[in-house]
Amino acid sequence: MTMDLLTVEALERPRDDDEVRAALPGLGPDRALLGGGTFLFSVPQPHLRGLVDLTAAGWTPITAADDGLTVAATATLARLADLDPAAYPQWPALPLLAGCCEALVGSRKVWHVATVGGNVCLALPAGPMTTLAAALDGVATIWDASGRQRRELVEDLVVGTRRTTLVAGEVLRSIHLPATALRGRTALRKASLAPLGRSAVLIAGRRDPDGAFTLAVTAAVPRPAVLRYESLPTPDRFAADVDALGATHGGWYDDPHGTPEWRHAMSRHLAEEIRAELR
Ligand SMILES: Cc1cc2nc3c(=O)[nH]c(=O)nc-3n(C[C@H](O)[C@H](O)[C@H](O)COP(=O)(O)OP(=O)(O)OC[C@H]3O[C@@H](n4cnc5c(N)ncnc54)[C@H](O)[C@@H]3O)c2cc1C
Repeated sequence: MTMDLLTVEALERPRDDDEVRAALPGLGPDRALLGGGTFLFSVPQPHLRGLVDLTAAGWTPITAADDGLTVAATATLARLADLDPAAYPQWPALPLLAGCCEALVGSRKVWHVATVGGNVCLALPAGPMTTLAAALDGVATIWDASGRQRRELVEDLVVGTRRTTLVAGEVLRSIHLPATALRGRTALRKASLAPLGRSAVLIAGRRDPDGAFTLAVTAAVPRPAVLRYESLPTPDRFAADVDALGATHGGWYDDPHGTPEWRHAMSRHLAEEIRAELR
C-alpha cells in the first residue's frame, strides 16, 4: 500500500503547537502537510521535496465537553470508530462516527493510520469524514501561517474534487461537532458498485429533538450538499430538492465508481429511506 517518495529530502516533525505554527510558512506545492500518509504514500508525488508530519504534535484526538466533541485533525479514524456511544447517552448521534468510518473500506489497518484531517483535506467526493461533519454541522478550525485562525463549516471547506478553501500555509487543526447536532438521531446509507467498493453515494441524515431534519449528500456530487428543514419535508418536496442537487452542486459525479444517472437515482432512493427511518 505504501511507497517510498524518492524526491522527498526533508521530513519535519513539529512537537507542539508552536513548532507546527513555525512550520506553516513555506508550505506549497513542493512542501506538504502529512497526516497518516495513506494517500500521500499511495501514489507517486514527484513534485514533493518536503513533508511536515503533524502526528507528532501531540494533539488530543477527541475532547468531549458540554458544547460537543472536538476532533483533532490528527485523530485517526480508528479512534473515532472506537468512541463508545454508551458513554455519552445524551448524544444519540454518536453511532454515525463509526458508521462513517466503516464507509472507508480500507480495513482497520488503514483506519489506524488515516486521519480525520487528511480525509477532509484530501477532499475526495467519497470522503466519509466530510460526510460526518456535514451531517453534524461540523465546524473546522484552521490555522494560517501568520498565526491567525479561522472557522468554517466543513460543508463549505470542501469545494470540489480535491479542492478546499485552504490556501498555502493553512492547516486544519480540528473539527468541532456541536452538542446541538449530537443530540439528533441519525441514519446513514451508502451505495457502491462492489460490496467493498468506494462509496458512489454516501448520505447521512439527522433528526433533531425539535423535529428539524438535515440531510448531507456526498460522493454522488463533487462537493458536499446539505439540505436543512425545520420539520420533516413531504416526500415530493424532498425528492425535488434532492433532484436539484445535481444542478447546484457541480453535477452528478461521474467516475469509474458509478455513472451520474445511477448516482442520481440512488441518491433519491437512499435519501427517501433516510427520511422514512427518521420519521
Ligand atoms: C484501501 C484504501 C481505501 C480508501 N478509501 C477511501 C475512501 O473511501 N474515501 C476517501 O475519501 N479516501 C479513501 N482513501 C484515501 C485515504 O486513505 C483517505 O482519504 C485518508 O483518510 C487520508 O487521510 P491521511 O491522514 O492518510 O491523509 P494523508 O495522505 O496524510 O494526506 C492527504 C492530504 O491531506 C493533506 N493534509 C493532511 N492533514 C492535513 C491537515 N491537518 N491540514 C491540511 N492538510 C492536510 C495532505 O497534505 C494531503 O494533501 C483510501 C485509501 C486506501 C489505501
